[in-house]
Amino acid sequence: MGRRPLIAGNWKMHMTPTETEAFCSAFASSVAGAQAGSNTEILLIPPFPSLDRARGALAGSDVKLGAQDVHPEPSGAFTGAVSGSMLSDVGCAYVLVGHSERRHVFGDDDAMVNRKLHAALGAGLLPILCVGEVLDDRKAGSTDDVISTQLDRGLADIGPEALEQITIAYEPVWAIGTGETATPEQAQETIAVIRSWVAEHFGDALASSVRILYGGSVKPANARELLAQPDIDGALVGGASLNAETFAQIVAAAD
Ligand code: PEP
Repeated sequence: MGRRPLIAGNWKMHMTPTETEAFCSAFASSVAGAQAGSNTEILLIPPFPSLDRARGALAGSDVKLGAQDVHPEPSGAFTGAVSGSMLSDVGCAYVLVGHSERRHVFGDDDAMVNRKLHAALGAGLLPILCVGEVLDDRKAGSTDDVISTQLDRGLADIGPEALEQITIAYEPVWAIGTGETATPEQAQETIAVIRSWVAEHFGDALASSVRILYGGSVKPANARELLAQPDIDGALVGGASLNAETFAQIVAAAD
């Protein structure tokens, strides 16, 4: 079964609701024509306050909406936090879990990532589980071990049916927001390791159907080569998704 490519734009803490509305209106109409007959799924991941305006501006288009994080509990006294049901209600289909900035800036460990993953699934959201090594891990030759541990712990108590709802994103931390991209060979090699991990834990059928993205300084100039790798099913794009034209070029590279 073919895996449907996914190009996702993570806006991080950029784009006010007003800016979001302008971007989404222009982007939805520009990709609408270009997307005719395309199999690529497109996802925008704005900050929380911009989600509702994005939903309005994207209505009637095939562009999906996602959130950058979710709290592990369904409701309660968690000032500043946002639950899965709130995200579903505002129109999110997807949510990022374990993005490297959540792990390294906000201190989400693998146990927290796993709780968030379960919360997202419980709310009917499609999680994008992000994993990736820091530069010291890569230099020490421990990338595969680090990624396997993140998968062991992040996907704890996830059954095969739940895994079908999950997309995995390989994002080497040293390549995020740095302008330094993993070479297509490096990205392919580690994503193949992730697919083997899935085969070992869930069997060959799920390993061949699970969607695995690459993220880390993806731009129009490198997207085509990265996306041409056999195990890379799409891209999680940060900086280059903030410009409608460059993001549309990356979407076009997936086709
Ligand atoms: C990201 O935010 O997931 C990301 C990959 O950022 P950038 O494309 O800017 O490296």
